[in-house]
Amino acid sequence: MRVAVVGGGLLGSVAALFAAARGWDVELFDARESLLEGASSANEGKIHLGPIFALGDSATQEVMLRGALSFDSLLEEAMAAEVDWSAISSPAFEYVVMPTSLLDASELAERYSSMNARFEWLSGELGRRYLGSEVDFLVDPEPRADPSTGFPMFATAERAVDPIALCALLSARIASEPRIAVRLSHRVVALEPGNSGVEVSWRDAGGIADAGRYDFAVNCAWESQLALAPASGSGGRNFRVKTAIRLPAAAGRRTVTLAQGPYGDVVSHRDYTYASWYPDARLTNEFGSAPSAEAFQLLDRALVRGGDDESAGWRAALADRQIAALQHLGLLPGDVDGADLIGGIIVGHGPRDIDRLESQLHNRAEFGAHVAGRLVTPRNFKLTTAPLAAARAVEAIDMALAGTVLA
Ligand SMILES: Cc1cc2nc3c(=O)[nH]c(=O)nc-3n(C[C@H](O)[C@H](O)[C@H](O)COP(=O)(O)OP(=O)(O)OC[C@H]3O[C@@H](n4cnc5c(N)ncnc54)[C@H](O)[C@@H]3O)c2cc1C
Repeated sequence: MRVAVVGGGLLGSVAALFAAARGWDVELFDARESLLEGASSANEGKIHLGPIFALGDSATQEVMLRGALSFDSLLEEAMAAEVDWSAISSPAFEYVVMPTSLLDASELAERYSSMNARFEWLSGELGRRYLGSEVDFLVDPEPRADPSTGFPMFATAERAVDPIALCALLSARIASEPRIAVRLSHRVVALEPGNSGVEVSWRDAGGIADAGRYDFAVNCAWESQLALAPASGSGGRNFRVKTAIRLPAAAGRRTVTLAQGPYGDVVSHRDYTYASWYPDARLTNEFGSAPSAEAFQLLDRALVRGGDDESAGWRAALADRQIAALQHLGLLPGDVDGADLIGGIIVGHGPRDIDRLESQLHNRAEFGAHVAGRLVTPRNFKLTTAPLAAARAVEAIDMALAGTVLA
């Protein structure tokens, strides 16, 4: 049994490990020079319990809870090792309500109370284990005055996992797994599913084209997923290039999300602080089957691929604007050095950005595995739900195999 996994982000890496654990031979393709260098390492690592989706539907909160409450155990299963979650996760988030929030503090309090009630109800099935400890509630629905901004603030149980630390653990585990052959600098250009296998075509770093036939393929190519498997999604996707900054860690930094709209976060990881201010951080907002060439160029420029002096100045200005906005709110101190710009592509739904109440980006309920012949395309839109989506994708192969045996 040979399985091709396309895309070595968190989703593909965990899917590859689950597939290898079943005794299958896995080839893990990634277009980059190393694994886990895409969205999975460029994000703030918030393991969503739901509050940021207060403007979304209840199905989104349920999907996030299912992902969040299984995140630690599924990753430990994939890594066949316990993880010290307290060492790699942030303090709990405080949600500070901005004066121009799309919902005011009293409306948010009502929605947070409903979220707590839904959590109580679902915890009977899903348990309460979250990043190595137990949670009793999601959000304290009584707002307080935030000490830095003076705005209303809600305490939550939500935390972030340091994606750099997590990706390092996962990379080491993959390197030690003899059933996974990693094919780096291999860009998959076509996936042709059939009833007995999938033809996978790729180009290597030198541009040489080749192809192979696999019993199954799992398409975890994130921003390229829909282009490789158009039948797996209808109506296109929203693609946003979003940057952020990493700062050296400092005592006393807070872990805050600015609710509810196009604002930002400050996340205090043990080894660094992640900070972003959305009005400057978000570089593109597009809708289609794949990001445009311009979007990829902007991301490359933000990540200094082929940068010149002009690009360096642009990067520094982009970082400075984000820092200044957060300083203005009192969430970062006046003297901040050593900022490093990072960025990635966020895939979501609908053409409208999150500053609109009707934006479909407030919803991430679409979840599961699309199966066409022997090609499995996970539907997953968050780091939070990636391990669960990887488990579902490999279960879809189990089911297809069981169907073959029964037939
Ligand atoms: C700035 C930012 C902040 C975010 N914040 C959060 C958050 O706080 N919480 C949360 O839950 N989620 C968050 N997300 C979303 C989260 O990061 C993603 O849902 C998740 O990381 C996607 O994982 P992935 O493995 O599918 O994609 P990736 O990690 O991007 O991996 C996809 C891989 O596929 C490879 N690839 C692509 N095309 C091809 C091809 N044709 N051939 C071969 N390889 C290919 C890429 O090189 C890449 O390595 C954020 C995303 C961003 C960008």
